[in-house]
Amino acid sequence: MDKPLLDEQCKKIFSVFLVSQKTLRFNVLHRTLNEIGLKMTKPTLISHLNHLHKNKLIVRKKEGKQNVSYTANWAKLEAFKQSMETKRFIERQLEDEKRFKSFPINEQVIYVTNLFSLRNLYKLKLEVQDVIDPSKNFEHSIQFLLTDRFFEIFKRWLLESCYMSKTEKASEALSMIDHNITLFTDDLFDRVSQKQDRSTVSPSSTNSPQEEMRK
Ligand SMILES: [Zn+2]
Repeated sequence: MDKPLLDEQCKKIFSVFLVSQKTLRFNVLHRTLNEIGLKMTKPTLISHLNHLHKNKLIVRKKEGKQNVSYTANWAKLEAFKQSMETKRFIERQLEDEKRFKSFPINEQVIYVTNLFSLRNLYKLKLEVQDVIDPSKNFEHSIQFLLTDRFFEIFKRWLLESCYMSKTEKASEALSMIDHNITLFTDDLFDRVSQKQDRSTVSPSSTNSPQEEMRK
């Protein structure tokens, strides 16, 4: 197995670099951590910075004799940064709350259903990537947290649409969700029983719930 994954303290310290996107001097970093409730002694901070440095997640810069500053290793996180930029782009394109809420409630449910399938596939992908390269576990979990927030926006809009009309839209949404649950469940059990019935089964022989919903 590869190097151990980063500890919780390291993850929190690193998130400070990600959020600030700045080069931080040791004393400033120590003070910032104290301010956000992550109190630790200077030697403890030094040892965690060493963990991060060993994992090439941060870059150390010496300024003069006494000052040492640190920054996130964006070169290593290039792929991650790119995906953040893609995410921001998508956010700008889709963050049209009014438009989404103007869809009929059943279309909103279909959209969120498909989005959550995508979210779970994305999470699974990152987990499989973790198996291939455990040293990237931390990048993967940050990446997922950021993307997940984006998925949650649409769910929130759907729920707000339900709240606005009180029970009417909520009941409609509920029956649509139940309908989708039935489609997914049937599809799943159909496949299992088909596999038991016949030794060979083509994956394309059954329509996916998404395909069914489009009809
Ligand atoms: Zn650590």
